[in-house]
Amino acid sequence: MNDKLLAGLNPEQLSAVTWPAKSALVLAGAGSGKTRVLTTRIAWLLSTGQASPAGVLAVTFTNKAAREMQTRLAAMIPVNVKAMWIGTFHGLCNRLLRIHYRDAGLPQTFQILDSGEQQSAIKRLLKALDVSDEKFPPKAVQQFINGNKEAGVRAHAIPAPMNPYEAKLIELYAAYDAQCNREGVADFAELLLRSYELLSRNEALAAHYRERFRHVLVDEFQDTNRLQYAWLKLLAGTDNALFAVGDDDQSIYAFRGAEVGNMHALLRDYGISAPIRLEQNYRSAGTILDAANALIEHNDGRLGKQLWTDAGSGDPIRVFEGFSDGEEAQFIVDEVKSLVRDGWNLSDMAVLYRSNAQSRILEHVLVQAGVAYRIYGGLRFFERQEIKHALAYLRLAINPDDDNALLRVINVPSRGIGARTVENLQTASRERGISLWQAACGAGTGRTGGKVAEFVLLVEKLRARCEHLSLAEKISLVVDDSGLRAMYEADRKEGEERLANLDELVNAALGFMPHEPELAVVEFLTQASLEAGDHQADASEDALQLMTVHASKGLEFDAVFIGGLEEGLFPHENSFSDSKGLQEERRLMYVAITRARKRLYFSSAQSRMLHGQSRYPIRSRFVDEVPAELLQHLSATVKTAAPRRAAWQDEPAPAFVRNNSLAGWRIGQALSHSKFGSGVVISAEGAGDDVRLQINFAEHGIKWLDLRYAADKLT
Ligand code: ATP
Ligand code: MG
Repeated sequence: MNDKLLAGLNPEQLSAVTWPAKSALVLAGAGSGKTRVLTTRIAWLLSTGQASPAGVLAVTFTNKAAREMQTRLAAMIPVNVKAMWIGTFHGLCNRLLRIHYRDAGLPQTFQILDSGEQQSAIKRLLKALDVSDEKFPPKAVQQFINGNKEAGVRAHAIPAPMNPYEAKLIELYAAYDAQCNREGVADFAELLLRSYELLSRNEALAAHYRERFRHVLVDEFQDTNRLQYAWLKLLAGTDNALFAVGDDDQSIYAFRGAEVGNMHALLRDYGISAPIRLEQNYRSAGTILDAANALIEHNDGRLGKQLWTDAGSGDPIRVFEGFSDGEEAQFIVDEVKSLVRDGWNLSDMAVLYRSNAQSRILEHVLVQAGVAYRIYGGLRFFERQEIKHALAYLRLAINPDDDNALLRVINVPSRGIGARTVENLQTASRERGISLWQAACGAGTGRTGGKVAEFVLLVEKLRARCEHLSLAEKISLVVDDSGLRAMYEADRKEGEERLANLDELVNAALGFMPHEPELAVVEFLTQASLEAGDHQADASEDALQLMTVHASKGLEFDAVFIGGLEEGLFPHENSFSDSKGLQEERRLMYVAITRARKRLYFSSAQSRMLHGQSRYPIRSRFVDEVPAELLQHLSATVKTAAPRRAAWQDEPAPAFVRNNSLAGWRIGQALSHSKFGSGVVISAEGAGDDVRLQINFAEHGIKWLDLRYAADKLT
């Protein structure tokens, strides 16, 4: 059996798969088989008896990747992969906390707050503490809290604040944690920090897991943050084998605290003398690989890697520049249709974009053309309003002290409980240190009191009636008895679709297999939270795949379209101010290019509606960083009287933008402003008389200047 497992691996891959039970780092470029090596190594360890299924812990980056790894493993060896500890950091931490909930100081039925719910919890907190949400925007508070949690730092451990603003943030962080503890909920970052604290506090427990997990394997290691690495170290100790695979050129989560430095730390901490390198790429045609290699050469500080393929050069990269974003979308859809006519599968094609907002226009054209598509990372099933309402009732039925759930549905469907009443409940809860539910139970009589009492009665009834029902029956019951079904039946506009989704929720519950039947509801709610947070979706039907570049990590497709290749969009304008940001954008582009097996398209538009504004961008520098001989320029159909070229091969930037719209200024041009000093033009928007330039001033940072007023101040 081993021969079959190992057949087809190249010598370096073979060496990595059969590496002794010691720590190792596989450092290799995209498509060189890192994930395949990792999966095959698990199969090899199991089939040679070096490890038992219970003795392996494997960390993947997304739930989808975890499922894929399980499917592949199951195909390689007869083993119950479902019982194995294969999952994302969040998924595995959740599992740990469910087992040791007492030691972790959590209720057994603790609920997970997704990002949106975390924000509402913060809003609620600000209100309760009478803190202005203008001075302290909930999103900023959320970032502060999560940033610290991801660095492993609790509020009390933050060093002396720099200023009163920071002092307040620290206070809010502490108050937020207290609120979560009171309500028995945990946000995503909390899952990780809490389980880290659990293990570091409890040496016996850590020793137990170290004894158990002799092999810890990690995919996409370059994107782990400090806390995740510390968590891995706690679990693996120094004696166990920590086997990590990664690619520094694909590090794309620095903005969320990921540290490529973890690769150096791993080598040092585990005494690994040199990383294992894989150099043959099995994914992409030569031209695509050459483009990726040439692009990433523009970054510095790389660990350095070679990638080659014997696949032959394949097709050139097709480049299309549309007059508008609509024309660009139309091009992509026409091309997809023509590939389908040539026998390509829709699900083997992907359109990648930098920002979610770009998908709307594509969706519009796809719907018109009747092309099936699936969005990864859009509003997914478990994020939809009706699903969240139903699950909130379910949550109340098992734990009425869940304040978030209660707030969500106390007046849905509308039962005459107004904002004032809710505020009174919140005041009572705050003053007496009790949950909203307890406050509601004691709300007394009177006109509004009566309405609250009715709600309390409803929830009590749901709790009592749910007790002996199956999970699916519970969901049917809450949907019917809460009044949600009736509410959507009365909604002529969207009701039908929402009811269909609620039925789908019951179906999902019917097919749900809990690990512990008594905890079916909790496990189901947990999965719902984790899946809603994980921007991936199942792909069963043959459909075109739409996703952000971030979501495409680790995946591969026969044909890949990279849209919106414009300065300001990709690279994103937020990255212009420092070279680090720009280098991260370039790694993103490297990830995007290396998703393609056979066919790659670059596209852009000369004008684009984004966030309700017209922009006239110039094409992305990343297109120019790919050697011209690898590109084939496709001519756009001329639909307007605007001066255009048939192709943009011999003209680096759209002519009309450069000459007319920017009144003589160029992106990248150095200039001087009478007040702000020297700077460089980084982007522009508007046209004709109404042009605004975005300029990065050395002394004053990035500013937008309206040329109508600023032209005479610029030289
Ligand atoms: P990424 O950095 O994008 O995550 P990766 O290094 O993890 O890429 P894989 O996804 O494991 O690469 O492999 C890329 C493709 O090459 C897959 O389709 C895989 O099955 C195939 N592949 C890997 N090794 C071999 C091999 N020795 N022979 C044939 N195909 C291979
Ligand atoms: Mg991979």
